Amino acid sequence: MDFGRINVGSYVEIQRSDGRVHQAMVTALNEDSESVTVEWFENGETKGKEIDLESIFSLNPELTSVSSDAGSEPDPEMPPPATPSVKAGRPGKTRRTMIPLRNEVPVKESRISALPVRRRPSTVMEQGVVSAPQNGNHGEGSPAGAGQLGKKELPGQQQQPRRKSNCVKEVEKMRRNREERRAQHQEIREKRAQDYDVSYPNWEFLVMIKEFRSSLDYQPLCLSDSIEESRICVCVRKRPLNKKELGRKEIDVITVPSKDIVMVHEPKLKVDLTKYLENQTFRFDYAFDETTTNEMVYRFTARPLVETIFEKGMATCFAYGQTGSGKTHTMGGVFSGKTQDCAKGIYALAARDVFQFLKQPRYRQLNLQVNATFFEIYSGKVFDLLNRKAKLRVLEDGRQQVQVVGLQEKEVSNVEEVLRLIEMGNNCRTSGQTSANAQSSRSHAVFQLILRRAGRMHGKFSLIDLAGNERGADTASADRQTRLEGAEINKSLLALKECIRALGQNKPHTPFRASKLTQVLRDSFIGENSRTCMIAMISPGMSSCEHTLNTLRYADRVKELGVDPSVPGVGGAHSPGDAPSVSAPRSVGASPGRDDLKILCEQNMGSLDLLDDSVELIKLCDGYFTLKGLQEEEVSPQLFTFHEAVSHLVEMEEELVEDHKAAFEESIQWLEEEKTLLEMTEEVDYDVDAYASQLELILTQKLELFSTMQEKVKAFRAALQDEEQASRQIGGQRRPQA
Ligand code: ADP
Ligand code: MG
Repeated sequence: MDFGRINVGSYVEIQRSDGRVHQAMVTALNEDSESVTVEWFENGETKGKEIDLESIFSLNPELTSVSSDAGSEPDPEMPPPATPSVKAGRPGKTRRTMIPLRNEVPVKESRISALPVRRRPSTVMEQGVVSAPQNGNHGEGSPAGAGQLGKKELPGQQQQPRRKSNCVKEVEKMRRNREERRAQHQEIREKRAQDYDVSYPNWEFLVMIKEFRSSLDYQPLCLSDSIEESRICVCVRKRPLNKKELGRKEIDVITVPSKDIVMVHEPKLKVDLTKYLENQTFRFDYAFDETTTNEMVYRFTARPLVETIFEKGMATCFAYGQTGSGKTHTMGGVFSGKTQDCAKGIYALAARDVFQFLKQPRYRQLNLQVNATFFEIYSGKVFDLLNRKAKLRVLEDGRQQVQVVGLQEKEVSNVEEVLRLIEMGNNCRTSGQTSANAQSSRSHAVFQLILRRAGRMHGKFSLIDLAGNERGADTASADRQTRLEGAEINKSLLALKECIRALGQNKPHTPFRASKLTQVLRDSFIGENSRTCMIAMISPGMSSCEHTLNTLRYADRVKELGVDPSVPGVGGAHSPGDAPSVSAPRSVGASPGRDDLKILCEQNMGSLDLLDDSVELIKLCDGYFTLKGLQEEEVSPQLFTFHEAVSHLVEMEEELVEDHKAAFEESIQWLEEEKTLLEMTEEVDYDVDAYASQLELILTQKLELFSTMQEKVKAFRAALQDEEQASRQIGGQRRPQA
């Protein structure tokens, strides 16, 4: 039986029943049936088929003749080697599969660049799905061994032993064939390049991405897809390129090939300036592409949580991401020009369903009342958006019950009323600001729907439009206000992640005190019946790539521990790869907020198992660690000190202002008393003794109070300086990042 140049492990073109032609790997040569078995990777699984030899040869004529030099040189158009049995398993079963998958996908040797092949064997997506053909330049321009590495990973590939044929004619014919083939391919490539607009500043990357995409089989999320019930749901939403980005001819570096996968094609430059893509794959509960509507996003994210609050639970839904990635669009509603259609945001959609649920007989009988609150957390301070931005105090009682004192809860009985409140809050949020986004990107907006039964809380749904996560970079800013804002955002987002993780693991301690955001949401992170959803918003443009990766890594960390703990050996608080469980030592007299802050610091050691081996763990003083090479959510000792300084500052400021207010009130009292005293002296025979002793008493009290105040102001100013010092420390340590 003559199989020509076909070997186990070779790639052949095959035609599918629907007419599609694509490449597949030969996994068996069947002598009896004169056929070959081929396998390929599609929709996250390996598929196979037996095809008769004749069909194979008719599609792959170049494979008909037996090569005399077979195996000595890889075909330049060969796709990368694939392991046929690799399947994209559902993550959540093992912790490792939750890890962002990285692969470097080789692109064609074309006018773009010559690329060495480097790959890791264990990643899921790089095999098969990536059918971008491999560069055939092994050994020519690539680092030594790169090509061999690719070959080594070819299980089952049988290299034909070199035949010692001296038939020169045959060899020449082979070479001519090969050259012809190459010329043909070159022509195709050039033609293809013409299809792309070379006026794009990054058109070569665009070509690579398009080629990559053409090899994918798209299976986007659809309405009929099932909705999984989970305690923690983490999704990603990609927005379309906007007018500005299109105007700049930015390229879209994000692909959402299926309902739960998102890929980032990160453009990279080698030292020798060759361009290549580093493709990183992430998996979440759902991945929404740029065509997805708010209604659809809502259906898979917040809607499943509505029932929770009717069943006496707490639900939270967060929009997370960099500024301009679509958080407000998703939560608050679609913008048309400068006006926002609130009815098309998740706030309103959730309200609509709350009123729907209310009509169901089983809930109608409960006589539930629906209230709404809308507030903003800005630089660790709470402002009521339904009450002219009144500044509110957050208090915690002895039973750890957190209360936002004076927060307006407005009763609502239909969607229209809710819409009016949202509009009112939105106007309040942006009033007095030159640029709406400039301010809203620095604050978290919290919209809540609260169910009450005879005055008592029955359930609560909090929908949060978080501050832009790129604000972390501000911690090294020269301007204090910017610095404090940035620090607070950075800290609150870290705290949020830890609180959700604690919820997922049923941890006994939730570090909610580390930030105002987590403090006011405390009751949503505890209790049996709490559910959370996070939507990570990403911008598709190449210029947002780094922020996008940071967003995805953060979201990945949140979900990583959202694994079903009932699956043996998976998730839960004691899974093998888990972070060492460090309980915060409660130092006497230290503020609980400080302890929670320390937990954040310690928890970041948990990121270790996500990292390359190249990452170094450096032990520093006082039990703190820093991770060299860690790109995300780094909490170095310097940063910890800085956060501590900021928290201290915020606490002191609150206290000082409170004391000042009290002193001011008292001063008015004294003025009244002094006035009376002075009036007394107008009388002909006033009691001089009484006057003198009264005056002395007032002055003593004043002196006492003022010197106390003076001490406090002094201490506060010293704290301001400490903060400045601490920020300079991280300024030198930390490169700006999200
Ligand atoms: P963020 O709140 O994250 O800063 P916005 O929601 O304000 O971002 O979105 C930034 C811009 O992008 C707005 O003009 C918005 O209309 C637009 N936008 C965001 N998401 C989408 C989307 N899914 N489809 C169309 N436009 C969007
Ligand atoms: Mg916004």
